[in-house]
Amino acid sequence: MTLKLDTDDYRIAPGAKVDLDRLPTRYDGPIDKQEARQAFEQLRDRLVELQELMYAEHKRSLLVVFQAMDAAGKDSTVRHVIGPLNPAGVRVTSFKAPNSVELGHDFLWRIHEHTPRRGYIGVFNRSHYEDVLIVRVKDLVPEKVWRKRYEHINAFEKMLTDENTHILKFYLHISKDYQKERLQRRLDRPDKHWKFEPADLKERARWGAYREAFEDALSRCSTKHAPWYVVPAERRWFRDLLVMKVLAGKLESLNMDYPRATFDPTSIVIE
Ligand code: ATP
Ligand code: MG
Repeated sequence: MTLKLDTDDYRIAPGAKVDLDRLPTRYDGPIDKQEARQAFEQLRDRLVELQELMYAEHKRSLLVVFQAMDAAGKDSTVRHVIGPLNPAGVRVTSFKAPNSVELGHDFLWRIHEHTPRRGYIGVFNRSHYEDVLIVRVKDLVPEKVWRKRYEHINAFEKMLTDENTHILKFYLHISKDYQKERLQRRLDRPDKHWKFEPADLKERARWGAYREAFEDALSRCSTKHAPWYVVPAERRWFRDLLVMKVLAGKLESLNMDYPRATFDPTSIVIE
């Protein structure tokens, strides 16, 4: 049976104006959990092969960006989708609030050094987009400064793409009610208390402002070369399947080849 999942349905077309209220937070289509699991496993196996191919080819890299509100499942998506890969070829970077040295530079300075080198997959758990999200919502720099950043982000991502770093960006979309449920779970389970950050409630209170900031980032920075995907994230098995399919599809589309041997293997005898 073929999987009824067109990943383009979740991609933001360049220039499209995003209204998050009109995009689903919970998958409600024909695929069931069992079918999703099977498809996920097949795609995962393929992605593992493609990762090795990309590593062997040593020509390009893949950068995967995750952004979301707190408790939307960034960590768990990384664990499920990136976890099965060969860790030697993956670098995951979690961007926290910048330190004083980082704040002394432009906002992309600390980002650039974490972009993946040839053959590698780089994963950003939060990213340079924080500089038009939390920074905008909390007025950490004047509007005049953050307004210009969309353009700078697009130029930065274009440069990376031109230099053979392919970029995919995922916004894990959840509702405010679902966030409440997930945060409550962190309070209810002693083994999850460590994940609860009382300060996150302040960000939750700014839900509307974040919503606007996300809509602007998704509308202004989904480009042909570095598209944003809005992932309905409340059914985790669908979230993982969609992200996995986009990743595998991207690497598949590169038509990579194993490098040719620089020697004649038939001429070599191993004693
Ligand atoms: P967890 O799921 O473990 O809570 P997290 O990504 O929320 O993961 P935290 O250390 O709790 O990690 O939070 C990081 C914080 O740093 C977030 O509130 C994020 O918005 C903030 N942050 C990241 N980048 C920037 C930035 N450029 N400027 C200001 N704040 C930032
Ligand atoms: Mg946190």
